[in-house]
Amino acid sequence: MANIKVPLIDLQLRYKKERKDLLKIIDDQLKLGNLVLTKEVSDFENRISKYQKQKFAVGLNSGTDALLMALWSLGIRKGDEVITTPKSFIATIGAIHHVGAIPKLVDIKDDLNMDENLIEEAITKKTKAIIPVHWTGRLCDMKKINSIAIKHKLIVIEDAAQSIGATKDNYMAGKYSSVACFSAHPLKNLNGIGDSGFLTTNNKKIRDVINLYRNHGLESRDNVAIFGLNSRLDSVNAVVLSYRLKSLRQNIKIRNKHINIYRNYFSKNERISIPTDKAGELNPYVMFITQCDKRDELQKYLQENGIQSMIYYGTPLHKHTAYKNYYGDVKNLPNVERICKRVLALPHHQYLKESDIHYVCKKIDSFYKKN
Ligand SMILES: *Cc1c(COP(=O)(O)O)cnc(C)c1O
Repeated sequence: MANIKVPLIDLQLRYKKERKDLLKIIDDQLKLGNLVLTKEVSDFENRISKYQKQKFAVGLNSGTDALLMALWSLGIRKGDEVITTPKSFIATIGAIHHVGAIPKLVDIKDDLNMDENLIEEAITKKTKAIIPVHWTGRLCDMKKINSIAIKHKLIVIEDAAQSIGATKDNYMAGKYSSVACFSAHPLKNLNGIGDSGFLTTNNKKIRDVINLYRNHGLESRDNVAIFGLNSRLDSVNAVVLSYRLKSLRQNIKIRNKHINIYRNYFSKNERISIPTDKAGELNPYVMFITQCDKRDELQKYLQENGIQSMIYYGTPLHKHTAYKNYYGDVKNLPNVERICKRVLALPHHQYLKESDIHYVCKKIDSFYKKN
């Protein structure tokens, strides 16, 4: 394998830039000695609820737990059906499965998000909720999804794991749902120094019950009100996230600027399609996912030229063994199956140099000239 000239992401470079600040912040926190459910966690929650324009935020230890606890708090139980997308990370349907509910998948559009026009035909008497996933952070059409939910008396929970900072027609994740669930995994745009996550809601009852769930259901040292889990956001991660939240807007700007360079370069190339933004959208692009001809050969060629790329993901959710074992074969999802064979994420991070982007573009060009 060739040396890596252009990495897909650059967490090491990010650490180099932030090292001095981060070490001070972490040192200050460690000196306090108190590391669990401290003031720094509620400070972070206040910052997030302001940023996402929601009344409440709850810090948790992962986006997966945010989904699980959102489902619990909204009373989704055994035998209920929950409509979601086959193009997500496995955690979306894992959470549905773990509350005993049944994930019902509807196909996606070319923009990789669930096709809202297919939701109604998937609704049955057992349907209780819809979980749209904002893939790469691009918001689904939440107005439309919410109006379907109102018509059929369904709950909406957003898998907003990738969409902190995203806007569409002046709304953000959380506006058209009961709960929006976010991940702060190191590979997300707002990232902790390990697993972490949070959720937002405008409903105080939901906020209060999730505060209990994340802390064993302890309402006081002497009484457990409900059974919960240990899913608290560490104070160390909370201070790191508060620090990084300050540069999030700027990072999203830079990420979009980079994608524009790719977009302009390939505007006339029909063999690779670069995601486009609709009017009124600000997309955070956690991953920069293209759709391309001869995907596997292109990936191999890029690798030989020192360019890292990644497939997110080649397997739609209904093709995983765990899914098939419980829910059988699903056959009516042609778009996701076609698109999964074409997706390729290209190098994309806030420290990418324009010269690196041009190098990647030129190599892709020369691949398609030969193939
Ligand atoms: C990352 C991610 C999750 C899971 O979040 P964790 O913090 O890793 O548990 C869930 N759904 C989507 C769409 C994700 O990208």
